[in-house]
Amino acid sequence: MKKFLIYFFAFVFICFILPALLTKRDIINVSAVESSNTDITKEETPNENVEKYDYSNYSTIRLLHKKTGEIENVDLDSYLVNVVSSEMPASYELEALKAQAIVARTYTIYQIRNNSSKHENSDICDDSTCCQAWISKEDRLSRWDENLRDSYWQKIEQCVNETKGIIITYNNEPINAFFHSNSGGTTELPVNVWGGGSNLEYLQVVETAGEEGYSQYSSEVELTQEQLLEKLKEKYSDIEINFENADEIKILENTDSGRVKTIKFGNHELSGVETRTIFGLKSTNFEVTIQDNKIKFSVKGYGHGVGMSQTGANTMAKEGSTYEDIIKHFYVGVEVVNF
Ligand SMILES: [Zn+2]
Repeated sequence: MKKFLIYFFAFVFICFILPALLTKRDIINVSAVESSNTDITKEETPNENVEKYDYSNYSTIRLLHKKTGEIENVDLDSYLVNVVSSEMPASYELEALKAQAIVARTYTIYQIRNNSSKHENSDICDDSTCCQAWISKEDRLSRWDENLRDSYWQKIEQCVNETKGIIITYNNEPINAFFHSNSGGTTELPVNVWGGGSNLEYLQVVETAGEEGYSQYSSEVELTQEQLLEKLKEKYSDIEINFENADEIKILENTDSGRVKTIKFGNHELSGVETRTIFGLKSTNFEVTIQDNKIKFSVKGYGHGVGMSQTGANTMAKEGSTYEDIIKHFYVGVEVVNF
């Protein structure tokens, strides 16, 4: 009986316990190999890398509908289709739309990762002047020609799906992917738009040809002397301009990109950004002329000018550039990675 028990336990050990132990060792070995395959030049621990680039962490985002205050949980990529459809014309080239999809995805993930949401209990809102434009599919389709609706929507879905998981990084971190409509030929540094401390190495002044072919490239705002004074008085009640003197309205300094840094209006000096807001100019890239009773702002470009120019992206795509070429042109020194 004693012998039988010894044989029995030996049998159980060999058939069940030993294989289980060996298998467990194999599993440990396999995961060790995988860990050593991860990039050992980085100083972060493998666990942090997994967390950092786990797409599923961002698969659902909390979207705030600003008008109703409703917060909706949406799938990131389906959210991006609505965003791209409202941020860029669907008639643009595929590679430009793909670049826009990647930029919008990166922008969204940057907001979440850096806790830079401006809203409580939600990651991002649907307002373009605050976060990123989002339009419902129904509203979007109704604004397109009936015969183009389906093909336009499918085209944007294709651009989002074919770039799934792709984002822009700098030093292994998602970038703050600013974009605008038309740079007027040259992009701008963030410091000249939002002030000190906002500069990022990948946002430099870069030139793009071919933007003058778009309606956003040039615009004008013309005011009478009275209208000009009235607008300035809303902010500077003591403003005084002697219109007889040609030097009373004068650009004092330009930024390196050629935009207006400071401009003199009589007894006040204003920044280009402030002037843009007061007079509703499309950009700070303007010249001012005074003729008879009229003051005319001749404006180049549309938007703040930082990061990717959408019309510039479309021009590049038309000339054969890929989304990666476009992104690396507007964001200096970045990587386009699939995570
Ligand atoms: Zn917002």
